[in-house]
Amino acid sequence: MSKKFRYECRGEWYKGNTHIHTTASDGGKTASELAQMYAGAGYDFLFRTDHHVASDVVSEAGDFPLLWLDGVELGGTDGGGSIYHIVCLGSFEGVSSDKSLEENLEIARSQGGIVILAHPHWTGNSFEDGLRHKFHGVEIYNHVCRWLNGKGSGLFIWDSFLKQHDILGFAVDDAHVKPEHPGWDGGWIMVNAPDLSRKAILNAIKAGNFYSTCGPEFHSITLQDGAVTVCTSPVKFARMAGPNSKGARTGSFDGELLTEAEFELPSDWSYARLEIEDAQGRRAWTNTLF
Ligand SMILES: [Zn+2]
Ligand SMILES: [Zn+2]
Repeated sequence: MSKKFRYECRGEWYKGNTHIHTTASDGGKTASELAQMYAGAGYDFLFRTDHHVASDVVSEAGDFPLLWLDGVELGGTDGGGSIYHIVCLGSFEGVSSDKSLEENLEIARSQGGIVILAHPHWTGNSFEDGLRHKFHGVEIYNHVCRWLNGKGSGLFIWDSFLKQHDILGFAVDDAHVKPEHPGWDGGWIMVNAPDLSRKAILNAIKAGNFYSTCGPEFHSITLQDGAVTVCTSPVKFARMAGPNSKGARTGSFDGELLTEAEFELPSDWSYARLEIEDAQGRRAWTNTLF
C-alpha cells in the first residue's frame, strides 16, 4: 500500500449526524427542537435531510446551539426498476418530488453534493443496484432501520464496494423522533476538522477524515513505520478488516479493556479499515486507511 494515508487528526473532533428529518417532511420535531436535543447530547453539527425538501439553513432565521448544514433525502425508482433512498449533503436548488430520481440525482451531483446510498439493507438494494449510480458513500449503520426491522447494517455492501473502489461509510440516526420512529443518538460520525465551519466540515467529510460510531471513540489514528496505531476509549476488541476473510485483531472476551492498538499494514490487501468494539458490543469504524 503506497497510497496516501487518509487520517489527519491534528484538528478537533466534531460530533455530527448526516441524516435527520424535521417537520419540513415526516419528522416529529422542528429544527429548533432537534438542535436543542442534539446539542444536549454533545453534537456539534447536523445535516437536515428531509424527503425531497432541500434545506436552506443560511437564509433561515434562528439562533441554534449547534451548526446546521444543508441536505436532502431523495427517494424513488430508477430506470432499472430498483427503489432507492439517497441522502445528498450540500445546498441544492431545483430538487422536487415531481422530478425523476435520476433528474434529482443529477441536480445534486452537478451542484457539488456528497451522494450517499441510504439504508441499503432496509430498502432491499442489491450490490448491482449500488454500482449503478456512483455513490460517494453508503450508510453502514442506520439507527431507525435497526429499530424498524433490524435491517440497519450496510457493512456487507460497503465491503463489496470497497473491493472495487473506495467509498465512505456513514453511521446515522435517520432520526424522525416521533412514536413510530422514536430513536436518535444511536449512530453518528466524528469529523476531524480545523474548525467548526460548514466549509471545514464538508471538506473533511469529502476527504473521509472522519469515523462512524455507535458509541466507542477513536482519539487518534496515526501511521508510523508501516504500522497504524489507534488510541481509543476503553474497548474490548480492535480489528483491522480487509477484503473477504482478511483481518487482524487484538483483545479478548474475558480480558481487560484496551485503549491502544497497533496493526502492521499488510502489503497485499487492496484496502484496510479499522473497527473497535466496546463492552456493550457497540462498534466504531474508520474509513479505509488509504
Ligand atoms: Zn430513507
Ligand atoms: Zn431518512
